Amino acid sequence: MKTGSGRYDVCIVGAGVCGANIARRLSAYELDVVLVDKYADVSFGVSKGNSGIIHGGFHHGRQHLKARLEIQGAMMFDRLRQELDFPFKRCGIVVAAFHEDEMRAIEQLYMQGVDNGVIGIEMCSRERMLELEPKLNPDVLGGLWVPGGGIVEPYRFVFSLVESARKNGVELLTDFKVSAAARSGDEWTVRAEDGRSIKARYVVNAAGLFADEVSAVFGAEEFAIKARKGEYYLLDRLSKARTERVVFPVPTSVSKGMLVIPTVEGTVLIGPTADMVDDKGDAATTREHLEKILSSARAMIPAISENDVITSFAGLRPTLGDDFYIEMSKKVPAFAQVAGIQSPGLTASPAIGEYVKDLLKKAGLKLKEKVDYDPFVGKRPHVKDLSPYEVDQLAAADPAYANMVCRCEKVSEAEIVEAVRAGHTTLDGIKYFTRAQMGRCQGGFCTYKIMKIIMRETGLSYSDITKNGGESRMLKDEL
Ligand SMILES: Cc1cc2nc3c(=O)[nH]c(=O)nc-3n(C[C@H](O)[C@H](O)[C@H](O)COP(=O)(O)OP(=O)(O)OC[C@H]3O[C@@H](n4cnc5c(N)ncnc54)[C@H](O)[C@@H]3O)c2cc1C
Repeated sequence: MKTGSGRYDVCIVGAGVCGANIARRLSAYELDVVLVDKYADVSFGVSKGNSGIIHGGFHHGRQHLKARLEIQGAMMFDRLRQELDFPFKRCGIVVAAFHEDEMRAIEQLYMQGVDNGVIGIEMCSRERMLELEPKLNPDVLGGLWVPGGGIVEPYRFVFSLVESARKNGVELLTDFKVSAAARSGDEWTVRAEDGRSIKARYVVNAAGLFADEVSAVFGAEEFAIKARKGEYYLLDRLSKARTERVVFPVPTSVSKGMLVIPTVEGTVLIGPTADMVDDKGDAATTREHLEKILSSARAMIPAISENDVITSFAGLRPTLGDDFYIEMSKKVPAFAQVAGIQSPGLTASPAIGEYVKDLLKKAGLKLKEKVDYDPFVGKRPHVKDLSPYEVDQLAAADPAYANMVCRCEKVSEAEIVEAVRAGHTTLDGIKYFTRAQMGRCQGGFCTYKIMKIIMRETGLSYSDITKNGGESRMLKDEL
């Protein structure tokens, strides 16, 4: 994944969910496209740490670009799921009101949803809410039901998009931190910190939290991306608090509030908080916030228990005012800004891919459809989803399917090997690709076994293996 230098039609800076969708959309045309990221793997930025919700299209009015793209993007997930085989479920969203004034807010959200064309949106009585989500606090007064809302495994979505884009000719350059750029003739020269350089006629800035820095590198618009942190706690899949639906409180003016999310993998996520932070690398979680999140989540779902917490994490929303900033630069040529993509960026991302493709076309990029474009990526067997008989059949051809590496999430040696061979050679890359290390023991039992497989497959030594690239080495010295 690290090599490559050359000439491209389009260079996309940032392999998060936006860059990945843009790359895949452009891969349907006769174009040379390169996707670059400063990290060792894709989806290691904002796109790895979020709620994984495909939003319902009722939180923002249509005057916002983000609302229009959210509605369009949300509708694209069924087809994408068929093509890309990532975990996704339309479980629906309920918004629960516990006071009379919250019921008035529900009415406004309902009207906004109707105005946005949200299919099946419904104002609900107390009884209807309890029927839709029996684990709700019985003190609920009423609320909103949005059947089209859903949940997705966000990093698997990005991995599948990039796999599809690469299959259709996009080149991926990792560990490529864009640090200098110059324009000469009708081309950009884009330089990485390590000295590598590429040339591209068009550049797309999809650099998430660092889109302001990348814009400055190209001499484009000046703006400042501010980080708003969201902390989460993850509950074990055995938790009795697992709901059928995503449960929202009534939103505040700055955030959608703290939620209870039945993840597509069977665990339960509670959070996020919403606090501005100065440091864009600040992913710390605190006891104080745990208390706040627990009490807010318990007010909606009383069965939530601190004993079920298996881990915590935080994500940083890249904020720039109140809306997405997606435009061709007015200051420099052939440079598209895809910045300020906070929530609902994951939901909107397929529509962002479409929107940016159209922007580039208007800016002069010639789009000729590929005759051999293949939107499908192959299905991979996951031992956790198979019957013992099916595992037996797979193991007859490859005994590594019978060797369980991660017992919590039921991930076999064969699946780890497949991840490494697909280019995911850090522990986090393997975690996001396979789910190994994500269960109750959080890698306590399987990390060592995974490191041995990485060493065997790649020739790396113990001290070369990192958690997520750079200097995040697992061991300081050779054993
Ligand atoms: C707490 C939280 C909860 C959220 N929940 C939801 C939700 O439930 N539903 C929803 O729809 N949205 C949600 N979002 C929003 C969603 O996660 C983001 O909108 C989306 O992930 C942004 O993707 P991106 O591709 O713009 O940014 P990123 O994923 O950050 O990608 C940008 C990439 O650019 C790379 N980069 C940066 N600088 C450089 C450089 N100089 N050179 C090369 N590469 C560079 C980074 O390494 C990074 O990989 C949430 C966000 C947060 C933080």
